Amino acid sequence: MSAPAVGIVGAGQLGRMLALAAYPLGLSVRFLDRAADTPGGQVAPILTGEFTDRGLLRRLGRGAQVVTFDWENVPVEPLQALADRIDFAPPLPALAAAQDRLAEKRLFGKLGIPTNRHAAVDNERDLARAFARIGPGVLKTRRLGYDGKGQVRVRSARDLARAYATLGNAPLLYEEFVPFDCEVSIIGARSARGEIAIYPLNGNVHVDGILRVTRAPWGPTALARAAARHLTRLLEHFRYRGVLTVEFFVRDGRLVANEMAPRVHNSGHWTIEGAETSQFENHLRAILDLPLGSTRARGHAAMVNLIGALPDRAAALGTPGLHWHDYGKSARPGRKLGHCTLIDATPAARDRRVRRLLPGLAPGVRLSLPRLR
Ligand code: AMP
Repeated sequence: MSAPAVGIVGAGQLGRMLALAAYPLGLSVRFLDRAADTPGGQVAPILTGEFTDRGLLRRLGRGAQVVTFDWENVPVEPLQALADRIDFAPPLPALAAAQDRLAEKRLFGKLGIPTNRHAAVDNERDLARAFARIGPGVLKTRRLGYDGKGQVRVRSARDLARAYATLGNAPLLYEEFVPFDCEVSIIGARSARGEIAIYPLNGNVHVDGILRVTRAPWGPTALARAAARHLTRLLEHFRYRGVLTVEFFVRDGRLVANEMAPRVHNSGHWTIEGAETSQFENHLRAILDLPLGSTRARGHAAMVNLIGALPDRAAALGTPGLHWHDYGKSARPGRKLGHCTLIDATPAARDRRVRRLLPGLAPGVRLSLPRLR
């Protein structure tokens, strides 16, 4: 058998959905992850070991046209050492920037992308100074935070010592709390030849820092255009290859960049059934320098994350128009186990159906509906 065309570092659900998008294109993939029993390892061959193991990375890259990532927190140094013989995409500088919340915020500033006030925090004095300047905020680890992990709200000066003690001993970032009206994200792809394709804006509902529901297309055209402009700046800055995502808060009709992810994104899962070309296929097209596919929405989509426990499959499959995705993981509280998507002709019809289905799919999650002008 010939070598797989694409190597993927990390075999989580994103990798699995990349592999599933690769097969119809006639592409095969191979994963590298710490364990074989992963969502990706269930659908394609997998090498097991550490992400920092240069021998394994070399084996992953052998014969592959390109090596990509399902997780952005892979240490960059061992990758850099192999960059002369393996074609990594997205580019490693984009990975490095996304791994450090401070570097990310500074980059937003440099590119004129509005973001919230922030400060680097290396000790308790830095934190006190940052609080005095910024006011109520969120203390976050600069590295390895995701889905609301590695962050503590600071409402008043009384919270400072506890917040620092909770996260201390790691480089931190203190940032202004944004009392947002809603959260949105924008996803787009750029290929080596410079072609760019951007999806409609996503409206996202998070609970406890974890994405629960995405609806797309979302929001006023002017907001989507502004988000696409910011994303384009980042894509061009990195001479990016692949899919890139930026998450924003929306406050008084204005975007405030929260963070970026140099990969396909949970808020883009609706594109599998809800767009002409899925984010997974466009990522593969982009990293292989194939023409990008249309990002046009096929209707009005809602994606609901299935977290902690999967609802009854037969009942879900019996719901007309519901698309079911099970990542093949064992159940654990707070764990993303799957998602489902439905598509309707109008936003109102979609929201009516999501509201009806939510108690069964995502108990306790409410569809907040901010009014955006
Ligand atoms: P993050 O890991 O930074 O994306 O944070 C996860 C979620 O926590 C976000 O999607 C928001 O819902 C919330 N959050 C994080 N930072 C802030 C902030 N500065 N202001 C308000 N909410 C925040």
